[in-house]
Amino acid sequence: MPAEDAHRLHWSVTTQRSEIVDARRSSRGLAVGAGDLRACAVSSAPDDPLMARHYGAPGRASRTGYQRDRERVAQSRAFRRLAGKTQVFTSRASDHFRSRLTHTIEVIEIARTVAAALGLNEDLAETLALVHDIGHPPFGHAGERALDECLKRHGMRFDHNLHALRIVEHFEERYAGHRGLNLTLGVREGIIKHSRDYSADQHPDLAQYFLGLRPPLEAQIIDLADEIAYLTADLDDGVESGLLEIDHVRAHVNIVSYCYAEVHREHPDVEAKFLFHEALQLMQNILTDDLIATTLANTRAIGAACLDDIRAHPARLAIFSPLAESERQQEKRYLYQTLYCCDALTLEHNKAEEVVTELFNFWVSEPEELPRGYVEEIETEGLARVVADYIAGMTDQYILLQYAQVKRTIRR
Ligand code: MG
Repeated sequence: MPAEDAHRLHWSVTTQRSEIVDARRSSRGLAVGAGDLRACAVSSAPDDPLMARHYGAPGRASRTGYQRDRERVAQSRAFRRLAGKTQVFTSRASDHFRSRLTHTIEVIEIARTVAAALGLNEDLAETLALVHDIGHPPFGHAGERALDECLKRHGMRFDHNLHALRIVEHFEERYAGHRGLNLTLGVREGIIKHSRDYSADQHPDLAQYFLGLRPPLEAQIIDLADEIAYLTADLDDGVESGLLEIDHVRAHVNIVSYCYAEVHREHPDVEAKFLFHEALQLMQNILTDDLIATTLANTRAIGAACLDDIRAHPARLAIFSPLAESERQQEKRYLYQTLYCCDALTLEHNKAEEVVTELFNFWVSEPEELPRGYVEEIETEGLARVVADYIAGMTDQYILLQYAQVKRTIRR
């Protein structure tokens, strides 16, 4: 992108952001919603249809249903295991890399910022951010790819959103009256649909989740909050790992180049590592502001006045502007070419795929070696799905321990 375009992007989102803030501050804005989308937000009213749960749960005056769901997710075992799951880099090389848990916290911060600026339901947005990666297997995307390949050979697929739904509906067994976390319909719909749509033909079992309609804006913003978080974090961790160099990133990623120049003007005598960190913060702010401004403009442009208007619109409204979208794509291409597919990570990915695949094959051929709770599930779920469920729940460290034990069993 030419430098003038980058400047335009920065100043246009800054101006739009201040318009939003001004509108929300002014009584006129707050009264008629000039700068926010509260009329289109999901309601936290106890009788709202999205508050429905599989099992009755007594309401409490001190917190809304989405606040209750937030606590249930945060207290789940699957959530705690995010601390032991790879985001991009395994923790073996450094304690400073993001895990899925710290990545999740960064997504929450962005999602809350966007939801607050637009007048959306912050509690729902926060809960969806908190739960958005709960279905990821160990070893990041390499683990997910391997599990998907294993299941394909049995005529099935692994999908982390659908797996997340299985976790919150079945695998969390902590409550006296029911299996699962008994979350609201609004949270369950957001778990499935925040990053993609599912067709009713292919997923008749998901009919209750309004498959023909778009999800609420609180769910739509999660996918891009996730993108903003990892586009920033992966450059940071990439440089921390020594696999990326600041000058190379500056030379090849337009938005970083522009942001770096901007902070360098402000701090001409500061070391490159501090400027790079400041540049990444500026980039994150620019993308976040762009998401806020574009979502607001799109929603106004279709004249949406309520949640049903958001749902009925054929496309998602929470997106980046064309300029920011081209920046995002360019940076993502760079990350794939120089980081995600570099030799060092490819070696790790190959090892991860080997571990997942060998364990999957072992338990499929020796199901009696599975823990008893999983053996009991085979009759209803089928062996391949049960093995995938078992593996998907593991942390990186636990799956490596299992791998070592299984190797010893095979040798005996
Ligand atoms: Mg994520």
